[in-house]
Amino acid sequence: MDQNDKITRRQAVAGLGATIAAVTVSPALAMGGTGTTARGPVKLDDPTTKYPKPPFKYQPQPWPGLQSQMVPRPDCGETSYKGSGRLMGRKALITGGDSGMGRAAAIAYAREGADVAINYYPTEEPDAKEVIALIRAEGRKGIAIPGDLRDEAFCKQLVQRAVTELGGLDIVVSNAGRQQAASSILDITTEEFDAIMKTNIYAPFWIIREALPHLPPGSAIIGTTSEQAYDPDPWLYAYAQTKAATMNYVKSLAKQLGPKGIRVNGVAPGPVWTALQVSGGTTPDKQQTFGSWTVLGRPGMPVELASIYVQLAATDASFATGQVYGSSGGVGQP
Ligand code: NAD
Ligand code: MG
Repeated sequence: MDQNDKITRRQAVAGLGATIAAVTVSPALAMGGTGTTARGPVKLDDPTTKYPKPPFKYQPQPWPGLQSQMVPRPDCGETSYKGSGRLMGRKALITGGDSGMGRAAAIAYAREGADVAINYYPTEEPDAKEVIALIRAEGRKGIAIPGDLRDEAFCKQLVQRAVTELGGLDIVVSNAGRQQAASSILDITTEEFDAIMKTNIYAPFWIIREALPHLPPGSAIIGTTSEQAYDPDPWLYAYAQTKAATMNYVKSLAKQLGPKGIRVNGVAPGPVWTALQVSGGTTPDKQQTFGSWTVLGRPGMPVELASIYVQLAATDASFATGQVYGSSGGVGQP
């Protein structure tokens, strides 16, 4: 919810005159519906020109990268995402919430009315600070819990701190991921393979297992998988198989937890302009042409996936479980 929304909402509640209501109230309200957001007509955006297209400047960063140093900066909805109360009072933990898709989800969740705890690697503090400030600007709790997800003990502490500081938990977004490109399997060290497996497969297991006893019926678990789960690139041998594993755990856990009233779903992005890509996630040539191969001729921006994370968490999506929702610019579908 931005300032304008707060003001117009207050105005609507206070029952200001019909003239103001006519220009500020959403169609749902104008028609006597129960919409809670007041705004004008939706501006039509051409998806081919909405965001920057390649070529991009080659801009390698050491892992895990900071999106605040990227050119162009990824758009995570900082100035554009508008909420409508879809997650009012919910309590969310999001891993990788400092940047990229996790940051877009964190901003959107706060603007939809949720309190949000984010995890990130300690060196990502500058990005994380911005997210916490944006969450708190919505009047929501914003809790920063830095730490290394490759450590089982930390994953347990992360969940316990989130539960304590949020006063409960009903949304878990297991979004953090490690991607390091290698043109040959011969170039992948056991240490790197292990780090990818720990981050992308073990950490979600540790976190979800720790969180489960705290999740009431109606809760939602969301994993970030990838187009790589279906259509792996040759230079992502290690990473791509973890995304297939993510897609798979979403489906098995959905079956296991459905009877408990807990939904489990996945989001499968295509090429999205994020810090992961410039901090070892892709090859130098692919970094410069990143996303040119989609049917829109550009990579996605994290904010373009924010509404999917909201939808999968919202209670009105109560029949969606075991689903993987894609958003990939027309490539990499199953
Ligand atoms: P990102 O770099 O902005 O986010 C990834 C986050 O993972 C980092 O910010 C970091 O906080 C976290 N992380 C990684 N290792 C960690 C560790 N050991 N400890 C703590 N945190 C750790 O990039 P993103 O693209 O937004 O990535 C989010 C998710 O989206 C990942 O699961 C990624 O695999 C997935 N994904 C990305 C793309 C893409 O093109 N960007 C496509 C498909 C799927
Ligand atoms: Mg980051």
